[in-house]
Amino acid sequence: MKVKLLRYTKDAELLCGAAASTSTRSGTPSEILEKMDMETAKRLIKRVTGYGHGSVVEHAFFTFSIEGVSRSMTHQLVRHRIASYTQQSQRYVIYNTLESYVTPPSIAQNAEAKKMFDQTLERISQTYQDLLKLKIPKEDARFILPNAAKTNIIVTMNARELRHFFNLRCCARAQWEMREVATQMLKQARKAAPALFENTGPSCVELGYCCEGTMKPTECNVEEIKKRFREL
Ligand SMILES: Cc1cc2nc3c(=O)[nH]c(=O)nc-3n(C[C@H](O)[C@H](O)[C@H](O)COP(=O)(O)OP(=O)(O)OC[C@H]3O[C@@H](n4cnc5c(N)ncnc54)[C@H](O)[C@@H]3O)c2cc1C
Repeated sequence: MKVKLLRYTKDAELLCGAAASTSTRSGTPSEILEKMDMETAKRLIKRVTGYGHGSVVEHAFFTFSIEGVSRSMTHQLVRHRIASYTQQSQRYVIYNTLESYVTPPSIAQNAEAKKMFDQTLERISQTYQDLLKLKIPKEDARFILPNAAKTNIIVTMNARELRHFFNLRCCARAQWEMREVATQMLKQARKAAPALFENTGPSCVELGYCCEGTMKPTECNVEEIKKRFREL
């Protein structure tokens, strides 16, 4: 798996700071942006988003390349609707080796499970190839492919949606691959625009409560999680 921040809004923090200031100042947005400095922008973003006025950070966009993940992971990712996606198509790309699948760590660490998993995937690969040889179109042969099939996807989200996404998907209850991708996205977004993501993480870190309620994992150590995400 590889996650790479490809592009993001230039001067994202200054821009969002200027947006925050636009609501209370008489000047035009362009004049306000011209005079905006980083310290003021950081202070304004913190204060205004703290009020729940989250739309000011919608002006900043971040585009990520997410590579070599499972279809199972991207199916969860695309449930987030305030975003743009483009995904590798199984109508064009042929799957033919075990390299084209993601093996979950729980299976990789269990010799018996790994053997069963690999044998099944080899059989699927073989049947998929046989279907193509029978001139079945790729778009139909792919019906046999599993959730483990590897894929690549490009996603663009604004900072408000990203923060919401991190609240849900950096959480210990999120699925491991989804959580790993979300955590890498947060790390890179925070490096690019610290003021927009400095206190972001799972809901226990950013919002101060667990959004999972009674579904909260028993092994959660909130203090340890807070420390880990602050130091990310
Ligand atoms: C741990 C976990 C387990 C899950 N399990 C399941 C499951 O078993 N089955 C399943 O189907 N899904 C499951 N999901 C997916 C979940 O239900 C959401 O579809 C997904 O997390 C997207 O979140 P969202 O709808 O808040 O956000 P987004 O789509 O990212 O939207 C962001 C916010 O915009 C607003 N918004 C967006 N669209 C609308 C709209 N149409 N109307 C009103 N407000 C809107 C909402 O405030 C929303 O929170 C799970 C998610 C998690 C994190």
